[in-house]
Amino acid sequence: MKDSFVYQMPPARVVFGHGTIATLAAEAERLGLQRLLVLSTPEQAELADHVRELLGDRAAATFNSATIHTPVEVTQCALEVVKSERIDGIVAAGGGSTTGLGKAIALRTDLPQIVLPTTYAGSEMTPILGETQHRRKTTQRSPKIQPEVVIYDVDLTLTLPPMMSALSAFNALAHAVEALYAPDGNPIVALMAEEGVRAIVGALPQVLKEPGDPGPRASLLYGAWLCACCLGVTTMGLHHKLCHTLGGLFDLPHAQTHAIVLPYALVYNAPMVPETMNRLSRAIGSHDVPEALLQLEHDCGIPLALRDIGMPHDGIEQAVEQALANPYDNPRPVEASPLNALLEHAWAGTGF
Ligand code: NAD
Repeated sequence: MKDSFVYQMPPARVVFGHGTIATLAAEAERLGLQRLLVLSTPEQAELADHVRELLGDRAAATFNSATIHTPVEVTQCALEVVKSERIDGIVAAGGGSTTGLGKAIALRTDLPQIVLPTTYAGSEMTPILGETQHRRKTTQRSPKIQPEVVIYDVDLTLTLPPMMSALSAFNALAHAVEALYAPDGNPIVALMAEEGVRAIVGALPQVLKEPGDPGPRASLLYGAWLCACCLGVTTMGLHHKLCHTLGGLFDLPHAQTHAIVLPYALVYNAPMVPETMNRLSRAIGSHDVPEALLQLEHDCGIPLALRDIGMPHDGIEQAVEQALANPYDNPRPVEASPLNALLEHAWAGTGF
């Protein structure tokens, strides 16, 4: 265990439970908000309507064009509504895309945010914003980005389709895994990460069997919340950097790339991080953590090979070059030959 560290708690208020959306108006009142802008994706417009009803007179407008990877043009359109409707706060109801839009508005206006998460991606607990402009995604941190209130309502996650639930849960697992060996990790983060992994791995198979069962859904959301807390306060390593490199170079789907790369990145780092591996073994209930993760992905029906999601084999060399050109903090030095082997294995999906 680290015996010297810094830990700063995110200044967010968290309300967790079943039916907690009913507290929305009271939470808005607590913040003194009178003219809220409700955000959603087009697919979740019905949820946005429900949120407006719950807010009553405090709902000033709805903007339901939230888009994945937070394009700046969409944020500009939302900012016009903020101005014309004299908005004094934001309610983001949805997954990471909707939360991202709320954060992008808050970055530019410092308006308070209330988030109602409906996936396990975890953006709501972080002061991090990734935005896209001219096909380039850039990421930044700012205290203005961190949402003030997060209302986790398990019932809002019941409609998330099983495959999206599994991929989103693996996204959350990756946050915890990398937080365990992060250079700025600490004992609190380690506790949250281990418990988060335990909750997710325990609940995910049950959620896939009975997606509408609120019990396992609650455990999954609880685990995702803990993993999100880890992401918000630590620096991510090889796994995340590799996923960004592959996503950027070959336009691979974000969540699937994360799920495929995670066990391989863990094998890469394992020799350097025995304490992480012990915690993960305890949490997952297996001495072979990477193998157990692969098995779980297999059971969830998640694609297991980068080639199956569109990565060309001759792209491996390019990915290695790019990863090496941009060195990053990682427990094991990132070197050409073992990185090449990692990507060969992940590309073929044949295990380690
Ligand atoms: P998403 O928000 O893009 O949602 C995917 C689709 O699922 C959307 O159409 C959405 O409307 C729908 N959906 C969401 N919840 C649903 C539900 N309960 N029932 C039915 N449909 C539902 O997906 P995501 O994975 O949550 O977010 C991805 C985005 O979040 C990416 O842009 C990623 O970069 C970002 N992200 C940011 C952070 C951060 O800390 N900044 C962390 C994680 C993810």
